[in-house]
Amino acid sequence: MNYIHVLTIAGSDSGGGAGIQADLKTFSALGCFGMSVITAVTAQNTLGVRSVHGIPAAMIKDQLQAVLDDIAPAAIKIGMINRAEVVQVIEKELKAYNQSVPVILDPVMVATSGHRLIEPDTVNQLVEKLFPMVSLVTPNIDEAIILSGQEINNLDDMIAAGKKIIEKGAKAVLVKGGHLAGPIIYDVLISGTEIPVVLESAFISSKNLHGTGCTLSSAIAAEMAKGNNLFSAIKNAKNYISQALQAGSEVKTGEGNGPLNH
Ligand code: PLP
Repeated sequence: MNYIHVLTIAGSDSGGGAGIQADLKTFSALGCFGMSVITAVTAQNTLGVRSVHGIPAAMIKDQLQAVLDDIAPAAIKIGMINRAEVVQVIEKELKAYNQSVPVILDPVMVATSGHRLIEPDTVNQLVEKLFPMVSLVTPNIDEAIILSGQEINNLDDMIAAGKKIIEKGAKAVLVKGGHLAGPIIYDVLISGTEIPVVLESAFISSKNLHGTGCTLSSAIAAEMAKGNNLFSAIKNAKNYISQALQAGSEVKTGEGNGPLNH
């Protein structure tokens, strides 16, 4: 028997709710073995991010090479990339790896607490260099506004923004509507030139939302690593998130925006 290996390239959250820590928990819970390449270390808890330390590019490269030389991932999730040189290392190493593996990119920009997790000029690099290489990009509404350059107030806007993100070079995009108010949450999946697919889920009321985006993108990567196609992987990942949100809605972890329970 072999494990199903999944790699996360992301930032560390000392509070345990988001980033690498959420990714590895998700991989395990979904039956996969997780490897991790750490791009940045954050000092944070449920109340917010206190500081960010970017791991030197050479060390990120060493981590990537060490993993990819030995343990072939069946899928890769990319999360927090805080500066342009990290984009360059990831682009170069994934090109050199040259294997056909699903890659899910969560374009992490600002923490729910308001702390910037990416330098402004790095967003363009992310779009130019990584969008064409990855299988799926998973922006939330705020990230989709920045990536598309347009306002988003409703489902039609989400679809229009998703199409603009495809025009910028992404193969597929999942615009996540969780931040728009309403009893139903809409997410929009656009794959290339296909007709947009709208996925609906019931809104789950919870004070604990920290790490939702990280968890969803790593769940999609794990589900694709298990052999699901993009659409099935997203559906399964959304079910996983709904359960984790529900299970964590009343749990108290720290004084602020607590983690999901998974
Ligand atoms: N910290 C790290 C390392 C992250 O990767 C992320 C999000 O992806 C966050 C914090 C932000 O998490 P949230 O916005 O869910 O609080």
